[in-house]
Amino acid sequence: MQHFPIFLAVAGQTIVLSGGGDAAMAKLRLLFKTEAKLVVITKNASPEIIRWAAQGKLTLVNRAMTSGDTLDAALFYAANEDDVEDARVAAIAKNEGALANIVDNLADSQFITPAIVDRDPVTVAIGTEGAAPVLARAIKADLETRLPQSLGTLARIGKSFRHAVDVLPLGRKRHDFWASFYFGSGPKALEENGEAAIIPTLETLLDQQIMATDTAGHVDLVGAGPGDPELLTLKARNALDKADVVIHDRLVTSEILELARREAIIIDAGKEGFGPSMAQSEIDALIVEHAKNGHQVVRLKAGDPTVFGRLDEEIAALEAADISYRIIPGITAAFAAVATIGQSLTKRGRNSAIRMITGHDTKGYADHDWAALAAPGEVAAIYMGKKSARFIQGRLLMHGADPATPVTIIENVSRADQRIIATTLGALEPTMSNAGLTGPAITFYGLAPRDAAAQSLSLKEFA
Ligand code: SAH
Repeated sequence: MQHFPIFLAVAGQTIVLSGGGDAAMAKLRLLFKTEAKLVVITKNASPEIIRWAAQGKLTLVNRAMTSGDTLDAALFYAANEDDVEDARVAAIAKNEGALANIVDNLADSQFITPAIVDRDPVTVAIGTEGAAPVLARAIKADLETRLPQSLGTLARIGKSFRHAVDVLPLGRKRHDFWASFYFGSGPKALEENGEAAIIPTLETLLDQQIMATDTAGHVDLVGAGPGDPELLTLKARNALDKADVVIHDRLVTSEILELARREAIIIDAGKEGFGPSMAQSEIDALIVEHAKNGHQVVRLKAGDPTVFGRLDEEIAALEAADISYRIIPGITAAFAAVATIGQSLTKRGRNSAIRMITGHDTKGYADHDWAALAAPGEVAAIYMGKKSARFIQGRLLMHGADPATPVTIIENVSRADQRIIATTLGALEPTMSNAGLTGPAITFYGLAPRDAAAQSLSLKEFA
């Protein structure tokens, strides 16, 4: 991030602008939204700017800018649409301690003005570091239609009521109060009975919330999918939206954690395959402890929580502590991975069953029914199969599997750095080791990518 977004206190401060044409007017229309004192310095004021000055919206200084003009300015805009003049006036402003922006000159500006969606006091600022103004405008247009005009009114009146809500303890109760105001009773009261109905609505809601008994803790055991936030279920999103505490796996991506409620406590209970880890019993205890404190806990697990997720141990701990819970399924790595290679997990005439197997378990490399898997047409999705690749390869070949059986390794499924490596059972190692995988990977035994070109390319690259 080259520009850090902040909201500057400008009420009562001076903002100076040099320029009098179209660029100046466009900036002034934005600046009128503020409570700052506006001073325009130009010899070439447009009739509109002269009219604004007559209306008292700004102070017009009818001459070229000179030293001393920006001594008390918080912000300065150079909007002469003339590179030489803009450089001259910006140098004065910078020298005198004002933050300077030169219109349409990102490199020499100390700040940039974002695209703004105005629902005062709610303000959305959209910036693209100057890279894609078209994108900023599209996002703005989208938000303009999505955020009701009433939002500003609700927020303004809600703000005046904040002190009354201090009677509610910080945390869930207060959050619930505001959530039901902004997303439930507030908009309804405004629509049905106008602004006058808002304060009485707030009062009723506060009484109800004061009387409400403490909510019991609850745990959602949520599948986060393979990494792409768009592969989350709506239920998972809603659970993240309400969470007080999110306890997540190592494999859950930051894009998904971003979706958690802003106030939520985020705890990384990451566990490395063979490396150091938080013991499962510690994780169980952590989940129980937070739920007992009355929190809405989301236990966020990569993929689907019921697939190699040690879910049952967590459920046992919750049941022993008499805590309510719910399982929210997710898209397991195998489902997302098979979609990216354009194949089916089952296919009429090829395989009528699919095995999901793990490369290793708590005791080391995991044993499976290798003889059955070695038969032609079998398909298996191998989880945690990086280090165990040679073991699996050896076992299958020993049981008579065809070395030419297709094998596909998919790393970082659904993420920007996803890689597909097509190989065969005979070449699984050293292909796996040579590929230098750093992310999670799933291995399909018995499936090749539908796209044959990708297959021959990766074979050459890694074999
Ligand atoms: N519950 C998870 C699996 C947890 S076990 C699920 O349903 O997907 C961890 C293993 O899952 C990893 O070793 C890897 O084999 C697989 N995995 C999880 N996320 C993955 C991803 N984004 N890309 C590839 N493999 C993934």
